[in-house]
Amino acid sequence: MTSAKPVRTRFAPSPTGFLHLGGARTALFSWAFARHNKGVFVLRIEDTDVERSTDAAVQAILDSMEWLGMQPDEGPFYQMKRLDRYAEVLKDMLAAGTAYHCYSTPEEVEAMREAARAKGEKPRYDGTWRPEPGKVLPPIPEGRKPVIRFKNPQSGVTAWDDMVKGPVSFDNSELDDLIIARPDGTPTYNFCVVVDDWDMGMTHVIRGDDHVNNTPRQINILKALGAEVPQYGHVPMILGPDGLKLSKRHGAVNVMDYDDQGYLPEAMVNYLARLGWSHGDAELFGREEFVEWFDTRHLSKSPSQWDPKKLNWVNAHHIKGMDNAELARRVAPRIAKRGGDASRADLPEIIGLFKDRAETLEQLADDAMLFCGPFQPAPAELVAQHLTPAAREALAGFAAAAAGTEWTREALSALIKAQLAERGLKMPQLAIPLRVAVAGRAQTPAVDAVLALLGKDAVLERLAKLPA
Ligand code: GLU
Repeated sequence: MTSAKPVRTRFAPSPTGFLHLGGARTALFSWAFARHNKGVFVLRIEDTDVERSTDAAVQAILDSMEWLGMQPDEGPFYQMKRLDRYAEVLKDMLAAGTAYHCYSTPEEVEAMREAARAKGEKPRYDGTWRPEPGKVLPPIPEGRKPVIRFKNPQSGVTAWDDMVKGPVSFDNSELDDLIIARPDGTPTYNFCVVVDDWDMGMTHVIRGDDHVNNTPRQINILKALGAEVPQYGHVPMILGPDGLKLSKRHGAVNVMDYDDQGYLPEAMVNYLARLGWSHGDAELFGREEFVEWFDTRHLSKSPSQWDPKKLNWVNAHHIKGMDNAELARRVAPRIAKRGGDASRADLPEIIGLFKDRAETLEQLADDAMLFCGPFQPAPAELVAQHLTPAAREALAGFAAAAAGTEWTREALSALIKAQLAERGLKMPQLAIPLRVAVAGRAQTPAVDAVLALLGKDAVLERLAKLPA
């Protein structure tokens, strides 16, 4: 049974670099879960690691999320703007006795850990400063600033039913009294996450499974605060094609690099969604279908593998299925970047000629340069191979007839057929020399369409000045 409480999920990146594929996929699952359940998707920037957090990284994350179409309903919230709130909760916990000051130095704690190791026990803080009824604490060392530790339960288990992994449990005896504030008073990572998830009313936390060990600690702090514990789902990582953790050595891991390389955000969403989630045997789907179908039950328990060939296949599908005008709008800046004329009114038709065989928008832009860029005459070997004396004669005949014809694809197609019949030629015997002569290459989409889009002036001019 689902609870009546409205669903609230979040994506909580640390802005220490661009948004990588793994982070984008986690965000996508949280986003889709919120959307599917008509809930709220929150963006929270976890920027308390001031040394490593940068504004540029925040911007890169926002740009990537916008590109993928994951608009947050609330946020971005920034942890560094919530320090007062963390201080307030720390104060409340000290007052309630769920947290305590610990004056042990890092060296002392290391010695405690060493002593535990020597006894064959798990290395841990020994609880010197943990208050217990009737216990007398040591005198406070002069001038020493304390850390604040969470008073973790020492017995029992902390368990949850993970949305991905199923039941998970930890013995509380395994968990140290976690430091939740440093000697300078700044709160630590796990503590900020807890206060935020509580204040932001999170009902479901979907995140990478590198956080599984944090979860029992966070659950215990939430319970100590009297907060409702969200449901957790820990998504396994993405592996590279060689089975090792996906990293730069497998190619681009920055989401926005895929924009540069000509992948459609629609295709990225589709492909990333299938990395670790499935809906029957559906491989190709749009954003709306993904949201409609998304459920955590079909998140995979095992790591998924990055497959660039499949990504290309998915991208090709989305390119093929996209309306010509929309596709032209997306390819236009890439044509302009190549110095081509992207303002042609017939750009959608040009794109339409190529889209069935393009794997990326970059390829489409290259293709479109046939019409949008300057004429590139055929290289000498193509001329020698295809512009034979017989072919030149056929081209001359075609040019003479074409001068008087109506310049539409249909009329040109009829003209080509008439020329073939008149000269007793087969289609390639005229079509290939035509392509070499007017397009500078032996392969193009349908030759009648190419002629029509090149325009009468360009075609007749190129036929009149065949390379020697
Ligand atoms: N800031 C954490 C990270 O980027 C995520 C924390 C969380 O989702 O709870 O890995």
